[in-house]
Amino acid sequence: MIIKSVNLETVCGITSVLPQNTKPEIAFAGKSNVGKSSLINALMNRKSYARISATPGKTQTINFYNINEEMYLVDLPGYGYAKVSEEEKQKWGQLIEKYLHGSSQLKAVFLLIDIRHDPSANDKMMYDWVVAQGYQPIIIATKLDKIKRSQIDKHLKMLRTGLGLVPGTRIIPFSAMTKQGRDEIWELVETEYLG
Ligand code: GDP
Repeated sequence: MIIKSVNLETVCGITSVLPQNTKPEIAFAGKSNVGKSSLINALMNRKSYARISATPGKTQTINFYNINEEMYLVDLPGYGYAKVSEEEKQKWGQLIEKYLHGSSQLKAVFLLIDIRHDPSANDKMMYDWVVAQGYQPIIIATKLDKIKRSQIDKHLKMLRTGLGLVPGTRIIPFSAMTKQGRDEIWELVETEYLG
């Protein structure tokens, strides 16, 4: 994808009405600090347009980035931040559910998981939940540069088993540092979900 324009067009909180977009939407979910903002910035060729979390988990909004007036990258609020109250967790769930149910343009959900660690209970819950909403998430294994090359396969297997991925589920390893995986993600989006 050649990025010609990027615009944070809509920011939705719990009480907001969701936009009735007419262009395809691709959403990104993941626990706080997994590298979601870094990935979205890399996809947009921007250094710091998407928020890079100073206080992880604090902003509970869904952000819609209009790309080339052609499609949207949708940044879902992060989960699993320990200091969030029960009430905030509930609101987070309602907001995401509203979006997953309500969007008529959502084409795919990418779920980000840190390649270094066994998926957390929250990761597993998120995966199962997205599947229950009728989507087959594509997994992005983030922070690829933090493990040795020889360890990659082992870690990908660990993610597959830990999440209990449906056979055939795609996992794309990604590093925001080296940008490895970026082109593969765009290629997938362009061939499968756009046009
Ligand atoms: P978010 O909370 O999911 O949006 O995560 P951020 O994108 O803000 O990243 C959280 C932290 O991880 C930041 O300090 C990033 O610089 C770092 N980070 C994100 N992606 C990578 C990566 O691919 N490699 C490395 N080494 N660090 C990363």
